[in-house]
Parts: sequence; C-alpha cells; structure tokens
Amino acid sequence: MPKINLLPKQISELIAAGEVVERPASVVKELAENSIDALSKHITVEIQHGGITYIRITDDGCGISYSDVPCAFLRHATSKISTADDLDSISTLGFRGEALAASSSVSKIELFTKTSGEQFGTHYIIEGGNEVVYEENGCPDGTTIIVRDLFYNTPARMKFLKKDVSEGNAVSAVIERMALSHPEISFKLIRDGKQTLSTSGDGKLDSAIYSVLGREFSSSLIPLNGESDRIKVTGYVCKPVFCRQSRAGQFIFLNGRLVNSKTVMAAVEQAYKNSAMIGKFPAFLINVEMPFDTVDVNVHPAKTEVRFSDEKRIFEAVHYAVKNALSVGDTRPVIDVSANLKKTFFEHMDVKQYRQQAVSTDALDTKTVAEKVYENVIENPLTVLRQDTTPLFTKKVDVNISVCDDIPEPKQVVENEYKPTEEVKFIGEAFSTYIVAEKGNSIFLIDKHAAHERMLFNKLKSEEKAQTQVLLTPVTVRMSANEYDAVIKNGQLLEKAGFEVDDFGNGTVVVRAVPSVLGDADIELCLTEVASSLLEKGSVEIEMLERLYHTVACKAAIKAGYITSKTELLELAKKVLSNDDIMYCPHGRPVAFEIKKYDLEKQFGRIQ
Ligand code: ADP
Ligand code: MG
Repeated sequence: MPKINLLPKQISELIAAGEVVERPASVVKELAENSIDALSKHITVEIQHGGITYIRITDDGCGISYSDVPCAFLRHATSKISTADDLDSISTLGFRGEALAASSSVSKIELFTKTSGEQFGTHYIIEGGNEVVYEENGCPDGTTIIVRDLFYNTPARMKFLKKDVSEGNAVSAVIERMALSHPEISFKLIRDGKQTLSTSGDGKLDSAIYSVLGREFSSSLIPLNGESDRIKVTGYVCKPVFCRQSRAGQFIFLNGRLVNSKTVMAAVEQAYKNSAMIGKFPAFLINVEMPFDTVDVNVHPAKTEVRFSDEKRIFEAVHYAVKNALSVGDTRPVIDVSANLKKTFFEHMDVKQYRQQAVSTDALDTKTVAEKVYENVIENPLTVLRQDTTPLFTKKVDVNISVCDDIPEPKQVVENEYKPTEEVKFIGEAFSTYIVAEKGNSIFLIDKHAAHERMLFNKLKSEEKAQTQVLLTPVTVRMSANEYDAVIKNGQLLEKAGFEVDDFGNGTVVVRAVPSVLGDADIELCLTEVASSLLEKGSVEIEMLERLYHTVACKAAIKAGYITSKTELLELAKKVLSNDDIMYCPHGRPVAFEIKKYDLEKQFGRIQ
C-alpha cells in the first residue's frame, strides 16, 4: 500500500501554478490584470525572448504597502474579496489570490512597489517561492514587477513552450485584447527592445481599435448602441461584405472584461443571417454592460467563459442592437423595385379581370423591367450601386440592367413551335445575384458569385504556380499577433499561391505582389482573410493551399448584390453551362439550378 503524504507547500504551489501559469502570456495576463485592478493609468509591458527569460510590467497604480508585500505572494492572498458574499459581486479582474504565488514558485521575481501614503517603497525578491530580499527602497508610486527565467525550476514545463516568436505573439495578443477593453488606460508593449504597441489611453474605443487593429478593420465598422432591460450594448460590428473566414475578429467584452460567450456570439451571428454569406463570420467588438449580480464569472480558472443568469435576455439585447445597427448602417446595395412593379394579375383573377387590369397598366407594361429598375435607381440615388472590381471581366461603372433586349438571338421563336437551341440565352438577372439563362430545354438559375468563384478556384488549382502581379506600391498590412505569426510562418505557401510578402516587424507585413486574378481587390482585406484561413485547423500543405485558393477566388469573384454587366453575366452563364465541373462552389454550395421545360409545362397545365 503506498503511503499517503501531505504535500509540502512548495510542491502544492507548483501544482497550483500549473493551473494559472501555462506560458509567458498567462503570467503577463495575470500581472497586467493586477495593474488594472490597481487603477493604473499607464501600463508598460516589456518582454524578452517571448517573455521566457524576462517580463517587466510597470504601472502607476495604487502600489502595495511594505507590510503587505510578502503576504501578496502567499496563496489565497488577495485584497479584492474578504467574504463569501463578495464572490457575488466581483468587479475586479483578479480575486483568487493565486497569480503572484503561482508565478513566484516557477520563476525569479523582483518587485518594486510604493503606495502614495508611504515615504519609501519596497524592494522584494522571491525565487522559486523563497524570499531572497525584503527591504525598503526609494522608488516611484506604483509597481514594477520583473519575472525572470520562467519555469527555470520545472524543466518539464519548459519543454512545452513554443518558439520565442510564438510565445511573444501570445503575449501581444493578451495586451492587444486588454488595450481594447480598457481604452482609458495607456498600454505600451516592448518586445526585445522594440515598441510594438502603444495606445493613447484617451478613453475612446475608436482610438484603441485603430492602434490595435489597424486601418482596414477600423474603416469597415458600424457603431452599435443599444440598451434594453438594464443591458447596454455598445461597440462596433463590421459591414456584411467584410465578414471573414474565421472568428478571429470577434471580441466580446463584459463590463470591460474580455470574455467568451457563446450566447453573445450566436446573437450577433444570427443578426447577420441573410446579409452575410454562409460560412463567413462577422468581425465585431461588443461591450455588454450589465449589473454585476446577474453574471457568474467564477466559472473557469482562466476566467474567460462567462455564464449569464438569464441567457435569453442577453441574447435578445445583443441581437436587437446588432440588427438595428445593420439596418441603419449602409451595409449593402439594395434596389427596391416594388414601388414600380405593383402587379396583381396572377392567381385569383378571371380572364375578364385580367384583361381590364392589363389595359389599365398597359402604359407601364410597355416598359421593360430594366427600364423600371433603372428609373427607380435614378429616382433613389441612395440605392445605387457599388462598383464591382472583378479582374476577369471588364469593369463597368454604368448601371446595367439585366434584360435580354439587345443580346443577339439569331433563332426566331415561332409561337407553338419551340426550337430547342444549344446556345445559351440570357434571360435576366434576379436580385442582382442569380443569372437566369436558357439552354436547350431548360432554364437555369446561376449564382453569379458562386459560379465565378468556382471558375477562379479551378483556374488557380490547375496552375503550377499562380500568376503573380507585382504591386507598383507595396501595401503594408497590420494584423493581429496570431495572423501575423501565421503569415510569417507560411511564406513559401503564400508564394506558391502568388503572394510575395515580407516581414515588416511589429505585426505588420509588406505585400509586394499578389495573385494576378485579384486585380484591384482590397489587398489589405484579402491578406487578413488569407491569414485567418492559415489559422484554421488542418496543417497538411495541400489543404492549406486549397484554402488559400478559396480565399483568393472568393475575394476576386464578382459579388452577389453588386451590379454586373449583361455581357459579363452571359459569358459566365456560358462557361457554367458548358462545364460540368462548375456545379458546386469551393464551399460546396450549388452553383446552378435547372428547371426543365417539361416540368414548367406540367405546372402550368399545358401537359398532363
Ligand atoms: P488577486 O489578483 O487574485 O488578488 P494576485 O496573486 O494576483 O491575486 O495578487 C495578490 C494581491 O497583490 C492583490 O490582491 C493586490 O492586493 C496585490 N497586487 C498585486 N499586483 C499589484 C499591483 N500591480 N498593484 C497593486 N497591488 C497589487
Ligand atoms: Mg491577480
């Protein structure tokens, strides 16, 4: 029988440390949260070797008084709660009193701290949980904490650390998220001597977003402003056309703390239903503010997964706010033809009624649908139209309406004597999205974006190496730490897909060349999507390359909802209908539907 031992304090702390201290980023997170809890206005984080050898966090917060310092490094030592009741109304980030104890047991920590009420500050060194120095020391108000040689005494843990760059990027990601959730605090991050992030701390979310996420993200946002049932929802959501291939651009804050909440995520994504493409995810930054007593944050040691006591209320408040913002914001071109096309001649009318109706609307009916839509567009300039930027087709700025009036159609159709033709005839376009075409004994509905995307995808896949177009002016793209990491790591793969990208440092890359098919599509946006596609699961090269092709094809393809010229649409229809390999888009959605003449005739009772 093995003997049961009570573990010595040192060992039990090491075990506890495993829960809190996983990697440098988790130490930085805990320490920076302490600085926030201490009501600091400026927080500077400096790391070396991804934080593995050196982390220094300096703040101008309340400091720790001389007599409290050793106590702060004990487990369950916290100034933030004292009774069980306090657990129900937690407003600080830390409260478990574990971070300092855990970190100090697996590293060498040096602390300088001073409260404003003290004349001198405190200098304290603790290594592997053992106090080495504890003395008074002249230092400014606030706290500086230095963590050296993380996991120096636990080599097994050390082995799990990734390369310096990856650990450093994880630290960046932590600070970026904090900076976003606290625009009122100025954050600085210095990596190996270089400042990589600096926020102003002016209290404006916009400034923080700009500093952290860069221009492309900032320029595609719609502001949110909703309040219902004591729940305030603020922040930004992206325009539907800027939806991304992953959820990397989603940030949810609860009372200022970055959290994960499936409820909030689902509420936002559902609000985008019908305006974003299937399989795409909105980027957003949402801050939900609500009374503390309705949230349970004491759920997960990393304290990011939240539960709400009333999930339904949260869902509704968020969903409503986002829906509202999307309907107010200029999110996509819409052509409302209903005003001009009020016709009621089908269904229940008898022949007499129908004739009368037909006569009275005769004048109107001599106009083609195209003319009516055109008039409507001219009358309502706000509903016009974004220019498409597809490279394969010529660009058109003018409004082209989809009707077959001037497409040459050599074969005359004599009434009751239908001559099937294998030529593709362009009938029109529905909802600025679906090409209606006729071929042989069928009518086809073709999703123009899906079809074009599939064609480009096939083309890219069939090429040995994608054709490249060198940019006259290289474009710099700033991205999140994870995305940046993925792009730098996959330079060769990107090159194969036609991108030439150089590291510019500080989460920024320079794009020097792009796949030719992209034409003048938004390169910044495209690269961000490429980066997030690289982050998706599955690291087999061929899979990753296919995902890159998907992204490029999707970006380069003509868009649903945008105006495309008739000639282009006919060209596209011809390609689709002459090539069996284009029946599904790269995401697996169907490209075209067929309606057989025979089925139509049966529907209309022409044949039995
Ligand atoms: P917790 O944050 O959960 O209370 P920690 O181990 O992280 O536990 O910190 C213990 C205590 O040390 C805190 O409750 C706080 O009183 C004090 N402390 C830690 N860091 C700072 C800081 N940067 N400024 C002021 N006080 C701090
Ligand atoms: Mg803490």
